[in-house]
Amino acid sequence: MPIEENITIEDVLKNVKFNLEFKKEAFIRSAYALAEKAHLGQKRKSGKDDYIQHPLHTALNLARIGLGLKTITAGLLHDVPEDTPVTLKELEHKFGKEIAYMVDGVTKLGKIKLRGTKEDIYLENLRKMFLAMASDIRVVLIKLADRLHNMETLQHLPPDKQQRIALETMEVFVPIANRLGIGEIKVSLEDLSFKYLDSKNFFATERLVTTEYGQRKKFIDKMVIELRKELTKEGIDVLNIFGRTKHIHSLYQKLKRHDMDINKVYDLLGIRIIVPEMANCYETLGIVHKKYRPLVGRIKDYISLPKPNGYQSIHTTIFGPERIFLEVQIRTKKMDDEAEYGIASHWIYSEKKRKMKNFFLKSKHAVPDEELTWVKQLREWQNELGKDDAEFAEGLKIDFFKNHIFAFTPLGDIIDLPEDATPIDFAYQVHGEVGNRAIGAKANGKMITLDHKIQNGEVIEILTTRDRKNPSRDWLKFVRTSLAKSQIRKYLKKEGLL
Ligand code: MN
Repeated sequence: MPIEENITIEDVLKNVKFNLEFKKEAFIRSAYALAEKAHLGQKRKSGKDDYIQHPLHTALNLARIGLGLKTITAGLLHDVPEDTPVTLKELEHKFGKEIAYMVDGVTKLGKIKLRGTKEDIYLENLRKMFLAMASDIRVVLIKLADRLHNMETLQHLPPDKQQRIALETMEVFVPIANRLGIGEIKVSLEDLSFKYLDSKNFFATERLVTTEYGQRKKFIDKMVIELRKELTKEGIDVLNIFGRTKHIHSLYQKLKRHDMDINKVYDLLGIRIIVPEMANCYETLGIVHKKYRPLVGRIKDYISLPKPNGYQSIHTTIFGPERIFLEVQIRTKKMDDEAEYGIASHWIYSEKKRKMKNFFLKSKHAVPDEELTWVKQLREWQNELGKDDAEFAEGLKIDFFKNHIFAFTPLGDIIDLPEDATPIDFAYQVHGEVGNRAIGAKANGKMITLDHKIQNGEVIEILTTRDRKNPSRDWLKFVRTSLAKSQIRKYLKKEGLL
């Protein structure tokens, strides 16, 4: 859907990925009716759009990433207490505690100034943001959906505001969306921010993509048709197959690493193939390679070895017609949903699973359980208290950080660690060399010992020296992560010290 289109509540409802019973649809409609009335007469900054378009788009974004009744309702109401005479109390009275609580959470998040003039304020606010995140993950999802629409309509704000908001988006919201594995929102926010922060390079890169893709589109289209035919002939049920291009910001990052030489970027153009089962992915890979020669060293099996954020897919680069390189990505529908909707996809699948259970009275084997580790963790964190059947899937309280520590690098990158992790664990998480060369550490600017137990939200700075080449054997006594342990052991062994 093109950005800035005026939408209605029907567009939101059409995009809900659950089957909403009449009662629930009516609930969402009543929230919409209240929001519409409350915002009546208010305009967006463009001056022409009614304000209600903003909550509607926020709700639409939420529906698209797979959220259900309560989160969508809260999305529709999220600016009501802040910008209209209707109070939070009234919302609670009409829609219940849980929704009022989420709306309040979003309002509070909105008041946090994420980027101050001083580094400290910025980081402090980041922490608050994460603390807020710790109360209910859905609040963060609403905030991301809200930010996406604000970014889509950013051209209506004065340039200094555009810069501030784009920077905040790039530095705070993009990493959060990434951490939650919501690819769809992450890339949209990233490209939109890039457009404002570095418009020269954004438009140059965008032109490059358009030209490259434009020139080769007819070959890609032809390959898509041929591959589909071939796969079908071999008995594979192709759920979807389409040509794609790399996103603008990630392409630009890659170009920078390759002397801006587009010919060195092999995954600019690609084809994605969606198949039903994991076994089909490997069969498909074989069939693709039979038809097109693969590029040596470019086959990546993220199904057997998922990326740290849980991403699963097979990637291979092939020689297409007219000597073009193409990256073919092969994955199941479930893997694709998880890559696009991340944390939110969990709700879709638990909903489906429960439905299957109800229908077939089969136990837990209705849907294969090879879920991503973090999805499994999330399942444990799910709040089942006081949920009726349909909302069970939606409820997600955050004991999210139970056994989890989020620390920050001085540049604001978030490092995810287990409880009681130390600066050495942190250092190895950042980079093997940072670990090996560590001699000291600071937390929030103050010196700490290397066996210090990192607290949630601390900014950890690792002091390193060129002179140090070996990790210390003593570190093995207190490190918590297997990554740090194995790296230290590996190094000591190589040097004959272990
Ligand atoms: Mn808003």
